[in-house]
Amino acid sequence: MKSKRHSQLLSSALLFCLLLSGCGQKQESAADTVPAPPATAQPSAPPVSTPPPKPQPTQSAKGTKTAIPASLRSIMQGVSMPEGASVTFDDLAYLTIPHYNYQGEVTQGHMVVDAALADEILEIFEKLFLLQFPIEQMEPIDYFVSYIDETFDNLDRASMGQNNTSSFYYRNVNGTNRISYHAYGRAIDINPRTNPYCIPSSGYVSPANAYAYADRSQDLPGMIHQGDPVYQIFIEYGWEWGGDWSDEKDYQHFQKP
Ligand SMILES: [Zn+2]
Repeated sequence: MKSKRHSQLLSSALLFCLLLSGCGQKQESAADTVPAPPATAQPSAPPVSTPPPKPQPTQSAKGTKTAIPASLRSIMQGVSMPEGASVTFDDLAYLTIPHYNYQGEVTQGHMVVDAALADEILEIFEKLFLLQFPIEQMEPIDYFVSYIDETFDNLDRASMGQNNTSSFYYRNVNGTNRISYHAYGRAIDINPRTNPYCIPSSGYVSPANAYAYADRSQDLPGMIHQGDPVYQIFIEYGWEWGGDWSDEKDYQHFQKP
């Protein structure tokens, strides 16, 4: 009896030790165990019908005008605004103009123009926007200095070669002593590669990468033709078109006398 009772006590003690050690292991391992998610599932949200998409604000078709920003003045100084120019920055306005690009996307262009024509030019480009007329790019000509090379050998040709639409550049008409309408921000060249300057009698085309666009029987995106909606808009505002000139054809060029 006694020995049996003793062995029972030993067995109980051993079991107790095993239980203790088991508890110890469990406590140690608990520290580095990721807590399990709650056993009970969260109640699922009641089904809700997807609300209709909110209407997006209408894309503003009209641009904005400001004075020439100080940062741009320093870029223009000595480039489009040479020393001794008879025009001052206060005569000019900086326009931000929404337009469609050649990928059909709406983007914001920028143009320096005669401040007295700023509102009129914003109205004209609002109408071009509503036509979704594509303009490849539109930035002040000063940003194209780095494109001047042997082929595009002055700033005007460098900008034209990049098909950049622009206005103000204090300069003479190329190859003459006559001051250009561009010198007052009263002329705009639109897609000048797609609408090049041509002298039909000699076959001269500028910019030099625009020969494919000299054939004006084509109707390619961004082209301007006599009587088309872009032409009509400018003519209604009293602008003249270089494509109407006889000996030289400046298809990109509109000017306001
Ligand atoms: Zn021009």
